[in-house]
Amino acid sequence: MTEFEELLSFLTPRHENAALKTYQNTTAIACPSCDKPFHNLIICKKDLTSLNLDEPMNLCITTTPSGSPMIFTHKQ
Ligand SMILES: [Zn+2]
Repeated sequence: MTEFEELLSFLTPRHENAALKTYQNTTAIACPSCDKPFHNLIICKKDLTSLNLDEPMNLCITTTPSGSPMIFTHKQ
């Protein structure tokens, strides 16, 4: 299992549509970018995707092994 698959295995899948897949971090896994627990992980499935954020939040961004953008959200 890759680090990426291992990370996903700890998260709870929430929503998926043509553009996005979201997971909730129900077990307080640390964000790979900033080492603080994140709230949700968003994986962008298309080259161009828009996010509508309900509230102010900090974002950490990396990419999946296949090159899709991954966004870790941190509520303020
Ligand atoms: Zn982070």
